[in-house]
Amino acid sequence: MSKFQGVWVFIEQLAGEVAPVSWELLGAGRTLADNLEGELAGVLLGHEVKHLVSEVWAYGADKVYLIEDPVLQFYRTAPYARALVQAVKEYQPEILLLGATSLGRDLSGAVATALGTGLTADCTGLAIQPETRFLEQTRPAFGGNVMATILCRRHRPQMATVRPRVMPMPSRREGRRGELVRVDVTFDADEARAEVIEIITEKNKAVYLDRAEIIVAGGRGVGSKENFALLEELAGVLGGTLAASRAAVEAGWLPPEYQVGQTGVTVRPKIYFAIGISGAIQHLVGMQGADVIVAVNNDPDAPIFKIATYGIVGDFREVVPALTAEFRLR
Ligand code: FAD
Repeated sequence: MSKFQGVWVFIEQLAGEVAPVSWELLGAGRTLADNLEGELAGVLLGHEVKHLVSEVWAYGADKVYLIEDPVLQFYRTAPYARALVQAVKEYQPEILLLGATSLGRDLSGAVATALGTGLTADCTGLAIQPETRFLEQTRPAFGGNVMATILCRRHRPQMATVRPRVMPMPSRREGRRGELVRVDVTFDADEARAEVIEIITEKNKAVYLDRAEIIVAGGRGVGSKENFALLEELAGVLGGTLAASRAAVEAGWLPPEYQVGQTGVTVRPKIYFAIGISGAIQHLVGMQGADVIVAVNNDPDAPIFKIATYGIVGDFREVVPALTAEFRLR
């Protein structure tokens, strides 16, 4: 397996706009590559996307593998998988990381199958095991009741997808330069099989939780849809966004796209208010990366207090309006 070298990150782009998770993975990939004393590379596919190469260097890649072809203008599984598989076979990276986005989830499965290697989906942690130098891939398992560490012992590359916002955003170094390698891939005429007729951008998408810097989240303890108005007021004063636990979503108090957690969105805000949320592991995996966690709960033994930066024991109906009034003054 020693012929496999280096860490690759798939740079996901749509119409020249790179998905931020790709930069987050370059940050994580940097640490892995340094631990392996290897190289970090970005692999960029698309049509006329060369202008993005300098961005990939700026976010820490030593090398960019660039595959350009008109057939890659819009994402379709078959040509993207074929191009990535060919590049992997030619250059043999030891590790290949993709964002756990809709595109990344689709592509990673097709690529892993074609390469006959393993794939750990939706990782929440990545590290190099010191003794074996294998990639330790951590993800929730058994309904989120355990955190499993998964190793790919016999096949290479070791492939993982990671959810957006799980890894911190690395700093960008303007003017940083690396190496560019063009990979030529020949596509068959009927390669794409599907034709993209039109791209419709969803309008009025309610929330972009994964990029929110201030989140005010409510759980079952909030008690009703009407009571969320108190949280909305606090969010309004702080310029924040509302969110919810699954219990609150299932009660119909907020729509599903507001759900934080294992089966919802992963968030990494500067500050996360957890109000009337007990702190089940399935909720924690989606928000424990927040810089500051403020928990409001009337049960002093609620598990959320174990990870909270600030804990306020009390009825949210008293605590939240007091917080809103105080922040309004500042
Ligand atoms: P509860 O656990 O019922 O907690 C309510 C809290 O409110 C309590 O701590 C209580 O003390 C407090 N409270 C009550 N009244 C007040 C008051 N007046 N003032 C202040 N505090 C008060 N959950 C998620 O959130 N996201 C997920 O993505 C997710 N995915 C899941 C996936 C699987 C496979 C499974 C099995 C479960 C998943 N869950 C998820 C559910 C999870 O296990 C919990 O059931 C859920 O998070 C509980 O939500 P909660 O904290 O709002 O409610």
